[in-house]
This record gives sequence, structure tokens and C-alpha cells, in this order.
Amino acid sequence: MASTSAPAPPALPGVADSVLDLIGETPIVRLRRLSPAGGPQVLVKLEGRNPGGSAKDRPALSLVQDAEASGALAPDAPIVESTSGNTGIGLALVGRLTGHPVVIVHGGAMSPEKLTLLRLYGAELVEADWLAGPDDPGNPRAVADRIAAERGGWRSHQYDNPANPGAHYRFTGPEIWRQTGGAITHLVAGIGTGGTISGTGRYLREVSHDRVRVVGANPAGSTYAGGPSGTIRVEGVGTTWPSSHWPRNLDTAVPHEIRTIPDEAAFAALRRLAEEEALLLGPSSGLAVAAALELAAGLGPHDVIVAVSPDSATNYLTELSR
Ligand code: PMP
Repeated sequence: MASTSAPAPPALPGVADSVLDLIGETPIVRLRRLSPAGGPQVLVKLEGRNPGGSAKDRPALSLVQDAEASGALAPDAPIVESTSGNTGIGLALVGRLTGHPVVIVHGGAMSPEKLTLLRLYGAELVEADWLAGPDDPGNPRAVADRIAAERGGWRSHQYDNPANPGAHYRFTGPEIWRQTGGAITHLVAGIGTGGTISGTGRYLREVSHDRVRVVGANPAGSTYAGGPSGTIRVEGVGTTWPSSHWPRNLDTAVPHEIRTIPDEAAFAALRRLAEEEALLLGPSSGLAVAAALELAAGLGPHDVIVAVSPDSATNYLTELSR
């Protein structure tokens, strides 16, 4: 009988063992034209260069590894998550390579590209009603809970599970510190689950003895900055709390301020990134860069702003080609 565990082939320098080893170590690029003349450098960390195409590969791997280690996720048990897309793609990728089927409950607001990617990674897709309130059994989180209970599955609870900000604390923050030689003065990140800003921001504040200022970017229509809730056009960020869940992963002590960015400013920044920097990024990257440019207007030449770009335009080709 053929052995199922053939001896591992010898490691080769420069060759990753699987795409899981390609998660992280994403590049940072200077915005040469968008950075204001005589003002601060505005830099962008390109998280779309992760193998699954977004920053969410990092927490997806940490969430699964943590749950496997604690026994919460049994071998071969399904991973069940309600998500607007990138976490689902990250989990689907990680699930493929760790032997877990993946069920993604979505609210019907996901881009067609993300749905296709999820299918190609082999995830099972279930549509639920994202307009249903937190106590409604039809809302995506409730549907995901029910499916997990029925199938002995594990819910990653990305909004509340500390492994999400933990991945950014362990990896994204140290990378930015190292890549900028400790010169970063401001971090700008959009807020969805809060994982990116809380984990990366906490690390950068600690390592810099609280010199780095952390700025959250909040899309119009989201209540993270205290304003009224409305329709959120930028995918992957914002909350309509109190009519939806408030993420425990948003550590409100980390950001020094949260700026609300109008849709026009986010999409204008997205167009300028394409036209002037040849960077094709997703709408929430436009949001973060718009906030970074707003911030840059009040800063000097010694300041170094890093905006996190969570994903690239490839996830939104249909919407962006309209
Ligand atoms: N942008 C996009 C496109 C995302 O998918 C997410 C994750 N929901 C974010 C930004 C926000 O990241 P976080 O959940 O870490 O706050």
C-alpha cells in the first residue's frame, strides 16, 4: 500500500513549501506623485500581494492554527464564517491546505469577483439577509451559527476572536516597523473588524514608545466615528452599529483619532492611485489613502505615513469598470 506520508523532499533555498508560507512580507511603496511636495512621505502597504489577495490571509491562518491547537477545530471539521468576502477567501485558501471544508455565509452584497474566488477555492456559499437585525434568525451570523451547530463546524468569529488582531500584532506591525527602518510616524487603516488597526496599531505604538500616531479611516454611513448610520458603499469596512454587531476586536484605545471619509473622496483617491501611481487597488484602499492625504496636509517633511491597502482592484473589476 502506498504510504500517505511520503518523506518531505529536501528544502530548496527561495522555494516556499506551500502558499501558506507566502502569506505576509508584503511590499510597501512610496506614493511619489500623491505625497504632497515638501510635505510628509505617504507610503502604502500592499496587502493585496498576499496569496489570497488581501490582508485577511494573515488572520485567516492565525485563526485556524489557533483553533486547531486549542482543539476548537477538530481535524476535517468544517470552518463556517459569515463575511463580506476577504476573510472568507483567506479561510477558503487555508481550509484547502489544512483539510477543512469551508462554508461561507454572505449577505448578498459581495462583489462577483469575490464570489467566484470563493467558489474556485472550493467554499460552499450560503446567502443570508444582511438587512436582518442582530436578533433575527435570518441574519448571516445567525445562519452561520446554525450551520456550524448542525455540522459540528467551527465558527472563527473574526469580529471577536483575538487571533485576528493577534496576526497583525505579530506580523503586520513588525513588518512595517522593519520596512520603514522605524521611521513611521503615522499609521492609517480602515476599520472593518478592527483587527488590522488594533493589532498593527498596538504593536507600532508599543515599539515606538508611543511615538507613532494611529488614525482610523471610517467610511461614510458607518458609525465608528460616532456619526449617523447609512448606506456604506466601500466594501469591507464600517459598521451600522447599533443595528449590527460591534466588534470586540476594535480596541478603541489604539486609534488616536478616527476620520470619516466621504465616498467621493475615497473613490477619487482610488482613481488617482491608478492614474498617477499605476496602483490598482480596492475601494477601502482609496478610503485609507484619502484619510492619509487629508492627514498629510497638516504634517511636515519628516513625517512618514503608512496607509494599509487591504486588497487590490482585481476583487472589484466589475464595479470599477462601470
Ligand atoms: N478592507 C477590506 C476590503 C476588507 O475586506 C477588510 C476586512 N473586513 C477591511 C478593509 C478591514 O480590515 P479589518 O477587518 O482588519 O478592520
